[in-house]
Amino acid sequence: MTKKDSVLIVGAGLCGSLLALRLGQRGYTVNVYEKRPDLRKVDISAGRSINLAFSDRGIKAMKLVGLEDKVKPLCIPMNGRLLHDLEGNTVLAPYSGRAHEYINSISRGDLNALLLDEAEALSNVTLHFNHKSISIDFENTLAHFYQYETKTETSIEADVIFGTDGAGSSLRKSYYLGKKFLFSFSQDYLTHGYKELSILPAENGGFKTYKNALHIWGREAFMLIALPNLDGSFTVTLFLSYEDGEFNFNNLTTKVKVLDFFEKYFKDALELMPNLIDDFFKNPTSPLGTVKCSPWHYRGNTLLMGDAAHAIVPFYGQGMNASFEDVVEFDKYLDNGKDWETIFKAFEKSRKIDTDAIADLAIDNFHEMKGHVNNSIFREKRKLENILEKQFPNEYSSKYSLVTFNENIGYYEAMTRGRAQDKALLNMIADHNISTSVDMTKEELKKVLEKVKAETEEILEEDRVAKNM
Ligand SMILES: Cc1cc2nc3c(=O)[nH]c(=O)nc-3n(C[C@H](O)[C@H](O)[C@H](O)COP(=O)(O)OP(=O)(O)OC[C@H]3O[C@@H](n4cnc5c(N)ncnc54)[C@H](O)[C@@H]3O)c2cc1C
Repeated sequence: MTKKDSVLIVGAGLCGSLLALRLGQRGYTVNVYEKRPDLRKVDISAGRSINLAFSDRGIKAMKLVGLEDKVKPLCIPMNGRLLHDLEGNTVLAPYSGRAHEYINSISRGDLNALLLDEAEALSNVTLHFNHKSISIDFENTLAHFYQYETKTETSIEADVIFGTDGAGSSLRKSYYLGKKFLFSFSQDYLTHGYKELSILPAENGGFKTYKNALHIWGREAFMLIALPNLDGSFTVTLFLSYEDGEFNFNNLTTKVKVLDFFEKYFKDALELMPNLIDDFFKNPTSPLGTVKCSPWHYRGNTLLMGDAAHAIVPFYGQGMNASFEDVVEFDKYLDNGKDWETIFKAFEKSRKIDTDAIADLAIDNFHEMKGHVNNSIFREKRKLENILEKQFPNEYSSKYSLVTFNENIGYYEAMTRGRAQDKALLNMIADHNISTSVDMTKEELKKVLEKVKAETEEILEEDRVAKNM
């Protein structure tokens, strides 16, 4: 591996453009090939997660490439979940008891454009749009593209190729179809899909509902969420089964039925969405799945990163954050002057355990957001956790905080500790073993904290014993 190595990146989405920028900053010669037109010139975002929850792991990546200040103006802070019940009553459930811990809503297009601008500004990075990778000859480090503008095929060689071409990765497909080595691959779809809708800005350009929250209408079997945009609108996403239940994507085929559904379950949202029917029938319904695979690399020639290596369902708001974190973690291995194969191996070995963990956590959160947020014991737990975080900011972090705001611990550690804490708290609250009263003195709260810690440690110890059996 030398600085003169030519690097080819397939896919200029969020991960690929950040990787191009970072490798460019490190002095590699980088060529990026993207299937779609340049999103800075053509509007291609419609119907595809227009905005995203952006949090501390993603921000850490922006710090790595010196973009923290440029990204801030693109962010709308969301301090908690604003839960909407069937009658339209709302309650704000903060994400953390620490005031400085919040997530942000950010436009996918704006963030991607910023990363592309910064990468393109480097003389050693070149972007090529309208190039679809058809397959990758990973043995000869050769990528085959179809060029939409000239309608021709072209093959490009490089010293190393990175596949950051998302959940349907062409590099991953080439590994799988090539049958040249033991490549494991799984793709699990949820029975639910999603459709994007919108709440348009108010006539005065302001927000029609509370701006600084992630709105959730959780209805057990399905849910609606909304995240704010800088122009005063909200991107609304309906998560619903394709075929189960009285209302599902397969049977919501008429205007009347869609209105019935929203009238019954999302009345207060419907009042803000006169454009519902247009959006509903114009925007696509898309599936949600988890992709796991290994190995992520072939020798020192090619490496998968981001969704191409580990696509997850969106319920923890971590897919992009995890893909950005890939770049941060990968970057650490570039300092020691080792060859690409050694770097790829070491990266995958330390990283996969964390991306597997966030994949599992994201499935857990699907159930939590749909239903548990409305469950009384769950709400008691969240209330107590917020008080503990507020009173003992250096001693307690909920599972959500560990995953979202603790960018210096891995997802696996966050998952293990967080799940044990959840189990401890839920058991103790159900058994009336601890109080959740908001009127506790600090001494009483301290006792609760000690009990939670002791119970959590006991569960972690049991887990360790079971794992070693
Ligand atoms: C509904 C939804 C909501 C989400 N919400 C969040 C959230 O709130 N927070 C969060 O952190 N994550 C969220 N995610 C996940 C996030 O979108 C992904 O994890 C993230 O986009 C991964 O980045 P990536 O660059 O790896 O892949 P992508 O962003 O998919 O980029 C891949 C790029 O490769 C290009 N490409 C694809 N195939 C080829 C080819 N054959 N040749 C050349 N180029 C190709 C694509 O055009 C694209 O530009 C959400 C996802 C969905 C579906």
